[in-house]
Amino acid sequence: MTEAVGSVEGQVRGDRQPVEETDDWIQDAGNRGDQKTPPELGKLSLLLLSHDTASGEESCARRSFDGGCVAVGDGNGVVFFLLEGLSMSTVVAAPVASIVAAPGGSFLLEDRAPAEVFTPEDLSAEQRQIAQTAARFAKEKIDPAMKQIEAKEPGVMRGLLTEAAELGFTAVDVPEEYGGLGLDKTTSALVADFISVNASFSTAFGAHVGIGTLPIVWYGTEAQKQRYLPKLASMEMVGAYALSEATSGSDAMNIRTRAVLSADGAEYVLNGEKMWISNAGFADLFTVFAKIDGEKFSAFLVERGTAGFSIGKEEHKLGIRGSSTCALVFSDCRIPVENLLGEAGKGHHIAFNILNIGRFKLGAACLGGARQALELGIRYAQERTAFGKKIAEFGLIQRKIALSATELYVTESMAYRTAGMMDAALAGLPAEMAHAPREIQKRIEEYAVECSILKVFGSEMLDLVADELVQTMGGYGYVEDYPAERLYRDARINRIFEGTNEINRLIITGWLMKRAATGQLPLMAAIKRLMEEILEPPPFDPEESADAFAREAGILASLRKVFLLAAGTAYQRYLQALQDEQEVMADLADCIMAIFGLESALVRARKLLLAGAASSSAKVAAAMTSAYAARALAVVERAAKRVLAAASEGDALGVQMAVLRRFARVAPTNEIALQRQIARHFLEQGRYRI
Ligand SMILES: Cc1cc2nc3c(=O)[nH]c(=O)nc-3n(C[C@H](O)[C@H](O)[C@H](O)COP(=O)(O)OP(=O)(O)OC[C@H]3O[C@@H](n4cnc5c(N)ncnc54)[C@H](O)[C@@H]3O)c2cc1C
Repeated sequence: MTEAVGSVEGQVRGDRQPVEETDDWIQDAGNRGDQKTPPELGKLSLLLLSHDTASGEESCARRSFDGGCVAVGDGNGVVFFLLEGLSMSTVVAAPVASIVAAPGGSFLLEDRAPAEVFTPEDLSAEQRQIAQTAARFAKEKIDPAMKQIEAKEPGVMRGLLTEAAELGFTAVDVPEEYGGLGLDKTTSALVADFISVNASFSTAFGAHVGIGTLPIVWYGTEAQKQRYLPKLASMEMVGAYALSEATSGSDAMNIRTRAVLSADGAEYVLNGEKMWISNAGFADLFTVFAKIDGEKFSAFLVERGTAGFSIGKEEHKLGIRGSSTCALVFSDCRIPVENLLGEAGKGHHIAFNILNIGRFKLGAACLGGARQALELGIRYAQERTAFGKKIAEFGLIQRKIALSATELYVTESMAYRTAGMMDAALAGLPAEMAHAPREIQKRIEEYAVECSILKVFGSEMLDLVADELVQTMGGYGYVEDYPAERLYRDARINRIFEGTNEINRLIITGWLMKRAATGQLPLMAAIKRLMEEILEPPPFDPEESADAFAREAGILASLRKVFLLAAGTAYQRYLQALQDEQEVMADLADCIMAIFGLESALVRARKLLLAGAASSSAKVAAAMTSAYAARALAVVERAAKRVLAAASEGDALGVQMAVLRRFARVAPTNEIALQRQIARHFLEQGRYRI
């Protein structure tokens, strides 16, 4: 074993650096305060101040637990956290006032000013503290238990989930009146992001807090909420979500599990089987989808231990081996009628709406995994010697670091932007509707496309970063003794569950086309304007611009035009049958994702520039935005060419290709120089820190 690998092994096996040195932009980006070093986990206690917005009265409570602190809401209005020894202000802060709840998908048509878009730099001090606590929990509790998690040692996963609950992490999305914290979606994303250092844990955690708990938050009756939510928030009960079956995964509406009302009308009798259910091995409460009389798609709450309900053996999986995945069997399983969730025959609303937030959180969790993989790669490259040099000095290793960091930066920018839009939309609810689940869900559904983008882009970004880590580590990347091998295997599931990436690509384009057809998104008007522009003579080359991002803004404008050209041509050719042209739909989805990615990266780079042009953060964000602009242009040009060639022919195709070339005509940027600059930044930092 070489000297370099020896020290990587040390890091992997527990010679961890102090937490303060390994924390991320959560530590000090944006509104950086004079924060003291956070106390060790286990010594934390939490003071909770509630402030009644009507009376102005404040009250204070402290909850301390072995091994951590807990967060509790009391439903009185604004809630304050105070980690002892740290500064205090509101956690449930109103979103930054200038953030705009832009209509879902509007990024395709309009630019946003930096002040209108939420970026990680806008996080409040308290949101940072929660993220730091999550990161510390991941390092101090999850990291050391990696082997036991992977071996599925009995009690380990459940124990860690309980510890996470004691810190309040499982209560984030549960309203205060049911024992939760009712925090904003940004905080929810931060927890999913920074707790994610082990994908098995993240899967169990995500299945519980997302698809396992949210169906009851959004669709439960008052009695169901009272009965289950406090226990789910505190982890007294673990949740699971059972939709998939052996014969229907993507084709979820085709499930065969049946529910029949008993003769006395008091119970539903369930029969059927579910497949691949996360947390099944130890979950206590299952949201189970079945068709009443084989027709009405509905959801039911089934408790573990109910007669006629049994759980199959654990699946042996390619990755996330520490997570529990089992089949469920219902054999004349009788459950009280009160356990019908939502309306009979409307279960598909529950199934699909819950997945929006599931996809959003999956994207956030991919950030944590990718940050970890990138940082391992950076450290390894700085230690490993070949040909008498550290491999970090090689251009091709630097390219891997730059590419990984850039994709991570773009995903991060999209994820927190989406969180900010959701929070702004929810903050805009009138007071009497502030807790109305259907209204909340409707406002989140507005961002269904952004959620699917995060799922697809995030999972593919994580795959890329994990793959580059394996390659950077060479042979050591391929063997089980080092974490690259597990990270690589673990990453793969994200492209399959929460709707496969194929299905999500179809959703992205299909949803936007539907919005365009119903006039909710003025896409058709934009296509018409573009067609008029095409008929006009090309403009003279624009004068030099004072905009530091003129080039990237120009590329963004071009990407939008190329997309409109391709989408307009495809729509004209196929009309309603466009949805059956899957390859065209997927190519358009790739254009849409690239546009959202570039605009999100650009607006964040602008914000960092405004905060301080000379800062290394502003410089590296600018470089990554430029690098991504080049990549996005290549992706969109290629995808649009395929769409045009499929949807058009002859002279018309010739004209369209000429127009495409005109829009995509951009002098090449020196990507190699940019990549070297980006890699240098992260190698100097020794980690992913903007
Ligand atoms: C580890 C793990 C955990 C899971 N956890 C849960 C859980 O907690 N709850 C739950 O309900 N489910 C869970 N699942 C199931 C998961 O959601 C499904 O596996 C997934 O939805 C895909 O369904 P499928 O496996 O039946 O594949 P299929 O739907 O058969 O798809 C096979 C392939 O065909 C493609 N395909 C299918 N339909 C189309 C189409 N219309 N157009 C184009 N391509 C298509 C797919 O993209 C895929 O590439 C889990 C799965 C795994 C492996």
